[in-house]
Parts: sequence; C-alpha cells; structure tokens
Amino acid sequence: MHHFHGGCHCGAIAVEYQTGIAPEETTPRACQCSFCRKHDARALSDPAGRLIITVHDETRLERYRFGLRSADFLLCRKCGVYVSAFLDDGDAAFGNVMVNVLDDRARFPDATPIDRSGEDAAGKTARRRAQWTPATLRILAQIDARPRRNRRVCAGFRTHRYKSRHNPPCRWNRGLSKGGAWSVTIFPG
Ligand SMILES: [Zn+2]
Repeated sequence: MHHFHGGCHCGAIAVEYQTGIAPEETTPRACQCSFCRKHDARALSDPAGRLIITVHDETRLERYRFGLRSADFLLCRKCGVYVSAFLDDGDAAFGNVMVNVLDDRARFPDATPIDRSGEDAAGKTARRRAQWTPATLRILAQIDARPRRNRRVCAGFRTHRYKSRHNPPCRWNRGLSKGGAWSVTIFPG
C-alpha cells in the first residue's frame, strides 16, 4: 500500500490517501469543466483505496457547488487550494484527491484531459460511486470553555493532524486540558 499525505497550503485541510497503485502507474485526470480548468486540476482516485480528509478549522472549509450541484468541491477559504471533490452518499462517501495537494505530487504523471460535459446528474453519481475512493471527511472542532480572554487559536495543527486531541499540548492550548476538548464530526455519519 502506498500512503500519501498532503493538504491545502495553510494547513487547515489535510488529506491522507492510501492506494495500491504506485504513482508512476496512475493516470491522473484533467477534467475539462470550467472549474477544474481554472484550477488546472489533476484528479486521482482508487476504488480499492482510502481517502481521509481532515478539516482542522471548519471556518476555512468551503463546500463549493456548481452546475448540477451533485458533489461538494472542497476548497480552503483561506489559501484557496482545491483539495478534493466529495460525494456524501448516505451511508457511504466517495472522493477524489487533487494530485497537486500531495507532498509527493512530483512523482505523478501529467494528467489526461477528460471531457464530461455530456453527463447528467445520475450519470455523475454512478461514475463517482464506481470510480472514486471510499472517503471520510473529518471535521475537528475545538471546544474551548475558557474565558474568552484566555482563548488562543492553535498554530500547530499541521503537526497535530489526525489527532482528535493535541498530544503533547502545544503552547497555545496547554490550558485546554482543563476547560476544553475536541469534537469530531464525521461524514458519512
Ligand atoms: Zn488553506
């Protein structure tokens, strides 16, 4: 299994992508829709893989929808990076990952242009269920019960990713063990 990490530029959204396919053997897709062309997006998925998207700051998560509005295009509101397209499909969820957000992006080939302008919403959903990666979207929220004057935003979430609680506590949230905690919202529910 190959294990890739990445995320948006400012660190608010992190991704973890597991796949049995080596980077050199992948065929990233360059969707030719107007949105993907503006981002020069290279999309990757593996139905036998696993995708975990962790949002450390929900206020920075944009679930952009356009066109047939059949999926969420996850962008960072702070740094503007397009991370993933995500289909919340009830009991399951599927997503793709943008090669450009992976730390190892240089190992992947150039993308092949794909025109999907003829697809309807049902066709898009069927293709995504079949082709995208089983995915989980985790949204971490810091519950801070300390007096407002003592609250600080943690600047260290890059190093604390995938953890529901900072361990060890960073310099911004040492007091949180007394008055705060992390809640985690997970999609699919
Ligand atoms: Zn960002």
